[in-house]
Amino acid sequence: MHTELLNQVQSFHGHLCPGLAIGIQAAKIALRDIGAHSADEEVVAIVETDMCAVDAVQFMTGCTFGKGNLIFRDYGKNAFTFIRRDDEKAIRILTRPAAWGEPDAEHRELFAKFRKRLANAAEKARFQELHVGRAMRILEAAPAELFDVEVMTLKPPKTARIHRAIRCEECGETAMETRIRIFRERWICIPCFEKFEVR
Ligand SMILES: [Zn+2]
Ligand SMILES: [Zn+2]
Repeated sequence: MHTELLNQVQSFHGHLCPGLAIGIQAAKIALRDIGAHSADEEVVAIVETDMCAVDAVQFMTGCTFGKGNLIFRDYGKNAFTFIRRDDEKAIRILTRPAAWGEPDAEHRELFAKFRKRLANAAEKARFQELHVGRAMRILEAAPAELFDVEVMTLKPPKTARIHRAIRCEECGETAMETRIRIFRERWICIPCFEKFEVR
């Protein structure tokens, strides 16, 4: 893979990890089969995870939270759907369990220690070595080995409507009208509503 692109994605995400590598490979398929998002070629991505891989998807395809063309569905699956608005061509890229590589007990144990911040310097170094090695194996694999890709036609989600801003009668901050709750006949924002709920 293009080293410069890898460096850019890696610095956007903060580190190189197997999840990022999966995202890079999925994004490459999306770029090949659907194309990148641009002003005149609108692409919408639906991601079913909110983990590392999504950073590569955002960086490489131009589908981002801020632009509203990245939709997160909290299903906990490493699946990425891309829809091209003009012809509604879509692909769903589903990561195969085997894509992550052979289970490695040493890696798994060190990962657990690392996450609990219990790893010493030597263990951290060894963990990084194994972790990056697993990421590199994913990057070197043929995309067809990593994913099941389903091609289909899908209606893209409607573009976001512009909503009125309503002032919360509790905290005074304004929020989009679709996010306002009514509590005892007052208009209340979600965080304020949640405070009342637990009282
Ligand atoms: Zn990561
Ligand atoms: Zn409020």
